[in-house]
Amino acid sequence: MTARIIDGRAFAATVRERVAQHVSLLKQEHGVTPGLAVVLVGEDPASQVYVRSKGKQTVDVGMNSYEHRLAADTTETELLGLIQQLNVDPAVHGILVQLPLPAHLNEALVINAIDAAKDVDGFHISNVGRLATGQKAMVPCTPLGCLMMLREYCGDLSGLNAVVIGRSNIVGKPMAQLLLKDSCTVTVAHSRTRNLPEVLKGADIIVAAVGRPGFVLGEWIKPGATVIDVGINRIEQGDAKARLVGDVDFDSAREIAGAITPVPGGVGPMTIACLLANTVTACCRAHALPEPVGLVA
Ligand code: NDP
Repeated sequence: MTARIIDGRAFAATVRERVAQHVSLLKQEHGVTPGLAVVLVGEDPASQVYVRSKGKQTVDVGMNSYEHRLAADTTETELLGLIQQLNVDPAVHGILVQLPLPAHLNEALVINAIDAAKDVDGFHISNVGRLATGQKAMVPCTPLGCLMMLREYCGDLSGLNAVVIGRSNIVGKPMAQLLLKDSCTVTVAHSRTRNLPEVLKGADIIVAAVGRPGFVLGEWIKPGATVIDVGINRIEQGDAKARLVGDVDFDSAREIAGAITPVPGGVGPMTIACLLANTVTACCRAHALPEPVGLVA
């Protein structure tokens, strides 16, 4: 069997289109334009690329984008002051502080200073608790994107066996919570898990978020399983441009799986699309309007 390739670029374009339609409806029928504020501290080159891309995509779907670029030596007091301003600004529905922050800034303190209702990254402790207890939450973008793809390709997830490999706060744990919310039987594997191939044997769904190139082998996968590869690993190639590969050994996995996300072009493009989706959701909630269909967890 050769797996269906789950085209994350095409699916992300569909999500952006749904967002754009909802933004247009909010503007026309309610006179509201969703706004996303992105805060970047310092000059990390990768972060600058992400922030630029987020700003462009925000504007492309018809939302307002507010970029705040602060010097690398910005103090915690200054940063918290800006967050406080954004928290009370009615034009701002989503606030994202680009991570990582320079070492002198306390990430947890900064993230938890964001109004939880505007926390479109879903990292605020109250959103983490809300997700864990099955309440309405802002959900981290990468796992939300994985969930959307799984729902699209598997339909009803209820009763399926899902194994999430990785237990980080930004991917593994929220992914497991989302799958549990959709009534999967969920196993979370990590570096201390014994005999991972045995654990994977019964998995209808595998979500790999490990950070190790080609770690999951085709022979570990149950025939027909759906495989979501979150990993983004740079393989340096001497003078040539670095190559990106996932946490799954794509060539062997595609022969066994029923459907699989490639890297690049799988989960990656969904992350920013879900940030836009979260901003529309936050805007709807702020104005007590119905939430956008197909864009929430
Ligand atoms: P972390 O390093 O925070 O977590 C990695 C997890 O993998 C840990 O829980 C670790 O276990 C587990 N792990 C490590 N080795 C093994 C092993 N041998 N067997 C089983 N589990 C193992 O990474 P992230 O969750 O932040 O990211 C994971 C990957 O996803 C990375 O490649 C990252 O670049 C990518 N990523 C992609 C995004 C996207 O937009 N597509 C967004 C975010 C991340 P333990 O807890 O025991 O140490």
